[in-house]
Amino acid sequence: MEGLMMNYPLTLVHLLERVSQYFPRVEVVSRLPDKSITRYTYADFYRRTHRFANALRRLGVEKGDRIATLAWNHYRHLEAYFAIPATGAVLHTLNPRLHPSDLAYIMNHAGDRILLVDDVLLPVFERFRAEVHPRHVIVWSHGQPVPEGFIDYEALIEPEPESFAYPEIDENQAAGMCYTSGTTGRPKGVVYSHRAIVLHSLASALVDTLAVSQRDVVMPVVPMFHANAWGIPFTAVLAGAKQVFPGPHLDPDSLLSLMESEQVTFTAGVPTIWLGILDLLDRKPDAYNLKSLRAMVVGGAAAPQAMIEGFEKRHGLNVVHAWGMTETTPLGTVSRLKRHLEALPEEERYRYRAMQGYAVPFVEVRAVGDSGPVPWDGRTMGELQVRGPWIASSYFENPAEADKFTPDGWFRTGDIVTIDPEGYVRITDRAKDLIKSGGEWISSVDLENAIMGHPAVKEAAVVAVPHPKWGERPLAVVVLREGAQATADELRAFLEPRFAKWWLPDAFVFTDQIPRTAAGKFLKSALREQYRDYVWE
Ligand code: ADP
Repeated sequence: MEGLMMNYPLTLVHLLERVSQYFPRVEVVSRLPDKSITRYTYADFYRRTHRFANALRRLGVEKGDRIATLAWNHYRHLEAYFAIPATGAVLHTLNPRLHPSDLAYIMNHAGDRILLVDDVLLPVFERFRAEVHPRHVIVWSHGQPVPEGFIDYEALIEPEPESFAYPEIDENQAAGMCYTSGTTGRPKGVVYSHRAIVLHSLASALVDTLAVSQRDVVMPVVPMFHANAWGIPFTAVLAGAKQVFPGPHLDPDSLLSLMESEQVTFTAGVPTIWLGILDLLDRKPDAYNLKSLRAMVVGGAAAPQAMIEGFEKRHGLNVVHAWGMTETTPLGTVSRLKRHLEALPEEERYRYRAMQGYAVPFVEVRAVGDSGPVPWDGRTMGELQVRGPWIASSYFENPAEADKFTPDGWFRTGDIVTIDPEGYVRITDRAKDLIKSGGEWISSVDLENAIMGHPAVKEAAVVAVPHPKWGERPLAVVVLREGAQATADELRAFLEPRFAKWWLPDAFVFTDQIPRTAAGKFLKSALREQYRDYVWE
């Protein structure tokens, strides 16, 4: 017997309509490149999004066309997030921090018809402009005159009607697209359907997931070109929450002052951002009033336990650790403490919260070793594999990467994990970052998290360096806090009680800065390259 319910499509059009109906007065606030603040309401957002959708239609955009953005987080980017999918086209966000040759490859591989670009990022576009062939380039001008040969966004949408007749959209149609870099091979395209984004937004808003409600003031620090800012702009529109976009200003002081002035309740970003913020708060504990801040979501790389504790104990700020990937839209697991675990001693509680957490509803996880799925014993390592309605089933036109998807329908993440009896996933490493010493594995993540627990350390990354006797040995690259001192011997002594002797890094190198990936994570491949010929003593 069939259920007798309507077959109502899960599309972004519903989110757009709903926010204008129920939350027209809620604000969207953006910081622009010149640091000025602009604000409008969801009613304004709705009208402009419709105008833009009409303009896209006038430009000849058809169902399935890819339309790229090269932009920071701001209200016009949000308009693109909805206008493009509402026309049946595909929003393709480009990461301006990638190498120009990668950007050219990605645009050509995706077949982007139109590019929307921030005026401040035109110099980035110029570096690969000759290699790509969009039909139109539309500029989001933040005060600069729009150069010859480009379309001015405001002039484009201004004459358009405020109502837009949506085409029929199937929920399985593509709505968005994002390329993930990885360290080997060319970037791979992940294609999000309307249905996947809608279900992901619903699951993200749940209280035990990210808990986003219409009472929130949501600030995605994670860029809108990085896995759709973790889907947060969609989730916030679904919920009817106020949004605050930091534009290109991602330094700790700019972020903290914006959180204070807009009374942000919820924010999210990669650990490198929060390490910088924690450092500033430690130096100036009374400089910002963050009373409204209820949750800081950290993901994209492991959140060190010391950082979670530091925010909470020294500043009363709550950190929520989550795991995800571009291929998983991106939310997969969140580390919420289960009720019965709240009775654990403090150290145990923090240990749980520093894990990547258990799967959100509709995501299934398993860890697979050489002879199939490993037990959930918290010890046995395996490759994390996931499946669910917002997990990629293949890459865009990329048969070479088909082995990332198992014959029985799971996605292979490349992360090496243990899963404990409670279901909490702990990432030991990305397969490529593990250190293989004398035939045994050493987790670089465990070591760097422990080093970042030393009070003098601001940041640390541990990488494998070739070794004549052991194959590979760990080398730690350390950035000290301003004015703080620590020697290699002190750091080694600090680690000794926590690790087997053979795990301890053989060398500590002190530096001013750790290179970062385009998404702001530590770029360990660059460090491996830099120290490849390190001479061991
Ligand atoms: P990339 O970093 O390769 O550009 P993604 O942004 O998709 O692409 O990153 C996904 C990867 O980031 C995961 O496979 C995992 O290795 C890492 N990651 C994400 N969240 C966490 C986390 N909370 N802890 C540890 N690693 C994480």
